[in-house]
Amino acid sequence: MTETRSTCPYCGVGCGVIIQSEGAQITGVRGDPDHPANFGRLCSKGNSLHLTAAAALAPQTRLLQPLQRAQRGATPQPLAWDAALHLAATRIADTVQQHGPDAVAVYASGQLLTEDYYVFNKLTKGLLGTNNLDTNSRLCMSSAVAGYKATLGADAPPACYDDLQHAGCLFITGSNTAWAHPVLFRRIEDAKAANPALKIIVADPRRTETAEIADLFLPLQPGSDVRLFHGMLHTMLWEGWIDSAYIERHTHGFDALKTLVREATPERVARDCGLDMQDVLQAARWFALGGAVETTAQRAPTLSLYCQGLNQSSSGTAKNAALINLHLATGQIGKPGAGPLSLTGQPNAMGGREVGGMANLLSAHRDLANPDHRAEVAALWGVDDVPAQPGKTAIELFEAAADGQIKTLWIACTNPAHSLPDQATVRRALQRAEFVILQDAFATTATAAYADLLLPATTWGEKLGTVTNSERRISRVRAAVPPLGQARHDWQIATQIAQRLEARLRPGQPSLFAYDTQHAELGAEQIWNEHRASTRGRDLDITGLSWALLDRAGPQQWPLPEGAQQGQARLYAEGVFPTADGRARFAAQPWQPVAEPRSARFPFSLNTGRLRDQWHGMSRTGQLARLMAHAPEPALQMHPQDMERQRLQPGQLVAVRSRHGQLVVPVQADAGLGLSQVYLPMHWGSEYLGGRSHDGQAVGGVNAVTTPAFCPQSKQPELKHAAVSVQAV
Ligand code: SF4
Repeated sequence: MTETRSTCPYCGVGCGVIIQSEGAQITGVRGDPDHPANFGRLCSKGNSLHLTAAAALAPQTRLLQPLQRAQRGATPQPLAWDAALHLAATRIADTVQQHGPDAVAVYASGQLLTEDYYVFNKLTKGLLGTNNLDTNSRLCMSSAVAGYKATLGADAPPACYDDLQHAGCLFITGSNTAWAHPVLFRRIEDAKAANPALKIIVADPRRTETAEIADLFLPLQPGSDVRLFHGMLHTMLWEGWIDSAYIERHTHGFDALKTLVREATPERVARDCGLDMQDVLQAARWFALGGAVETTAQRAPTLSLYCQGLNQSSSGTAKNAALINLHLATGQIGKPGAGPLSLTGQPNAMGGREVGGMANLLSAHRDLANPDHRAEVAALWGVDDVPAQPGKTAIELFEAAADGQIKTLWIACTNPAHSLPDQATVRRALQRAEFVILQDAFATTATAAYADLLLPATTWGEKLGTVTNSERRISRVRAAVPPLGQARHDWQIATQIAQRLEARLRPGQPSLFAYDTQHAELGAEQIWNEHRASTRGRDLDITGLSWALLDRAGPQQWPLPEGAQQGQARLYAEGVFPTADGRARFAAQPWQPVAEPRSARFPFSLNTGRLRDQWHGMSRTGQLARLMAHAPEPALQMHPQDMERQRLQPGQLVAVRSRHGQLVVPVQADAGLGLSQVYLPMHWGSEYLGGRSHDGQAVGGVNAVTTPAFCPQSKQPELKHAAVSVQAV
């Protein structure tokens, strides 16, 4: 048996795993006791990785060779790799030359490795000349990115997991950590056991499993987060709990925020949020003072943990910024146990941000809107320029394809025909695009049915490269077995298409993609080294982080500049921020309610999210009986009193209707929900959960009814709220 150190491919906790293999078979998995994210622990999904990776499942699930459809709806037929790469490059180059580069778009994934992301970013922005590269990280972390940049000046979570041990107060908001980040939740339980005086506040419209550990649970109304945070700040000001010296020395803009929250009295805020006023006061006290202490002189540290409840919102940036405001106002940042710590949904959404792999970002946290930054990146890549026009973000990209503006769509490692809101538009986009390339490990996704060309990619156990977790920690992903069938690594496929595109788009010039595609370990390391060179002098400088250092010293947090021997646990200890004058900025953004308020016609608030044992569209986790056993079928959860009022019995089929579509699903009672709120897991797609859009298309899954409304700053859609009706069928 061989043992190979790698990283779990599921959530942003980024647990280290040890893969056991015999020959080309993965036979077991265990937690890596030396990995600083998990110290040997794994959750149910991580513990099942060897079973979901079993080659025996491959015939049912994996894409094992390139396939081409002669026309839409036809059975795809095998073709050789060389022909497939030639076809992809020809169609992309034809589109660029006939319609311009913005007629091509790439839609990728927070599950790609950093090296994959790097090549896609350089290919679209450097070679094709379009910024039309966006990813499903837009559905995951873009509000967190925009919130950090608006306040602290850079997309850099300042705290780390070890801060759990130092905190006097944990503020968990918009996160069911117990289910979405289970191993981190074990560390929260450990922190509480070691320090019973630790105060834990959980703010969430649902009483989730995470709320069970709370000393104070705040069941706020959907979309009222900013109102709550403003009410807490009002209280801190009134009680003298803010840190005036910190505000004076290290920030700008507090006066405007003070004016904004003046009317946010605890009485009004409690009413608007549906909370008890005493609970708002208690939350403000514990947050500001760091737990059960009486004066600012005794102030203990407060750490905030937050996730999609803040991010997936039409005011996601304002929610993130309003929370960070509280940390700045109380000086609860840059010291052990204190600071905002966004929990990344996907395993490598942060690595993608680091290479600039989104429509509005550039390499190493450079800004697309900044001409100097564009010139720096162009020089690094050896191209004349990088286009200034921001690319289309996820929702915009599929709307543009549905309108016929995007002719060639290249999708990698994601399933937009399941995961994006407004599925009617997504399906129209996939039908109308003239050529759809799908590069994926799995053949069974809803998107695969629309692809003209399917390119088989490697997956966990076969892939190699790096990922970054929620605490800025970069870990190696290593291959334990060879690629299955004819699968190739995502960066290899992108490189081989790029090399063919160069022959058409910049003939006779030296290749920008001279990575060794024949020797995967070597080629991936070449890409890594190019990426780390691009970070020199930036806030995330990792010029000192070679793969040799990662092998020798284990996973490291950025920054780690040349000469450093280890990464940095937390940021901003000196109160100096990556802004022009080194000061953080308060964001005075007013509270905006949800995009689709409840109405007489749509009287329920629909919330969506994860189950404990499932991952995304269940390509892996849906194959295992032991993971399915936790929740064998989709169900709409509803408060028992609402069920009684609607005369509904558990298990009865109901029609859920919104302004966008409808679906039919069994209903179940859940007293953890507020009245007039319902909850539906996001995992079941159209294959399991039939539905229909209002224009009559057969679209299913939860996103038959969700809204495409998005935050104007982060462009992240409001997957956490849609107004719906629920009726027996
Ligand atoms: Fe994997 Fe996340 Fe579970 Fe860790 S907590 S084993 S990273 S799914």
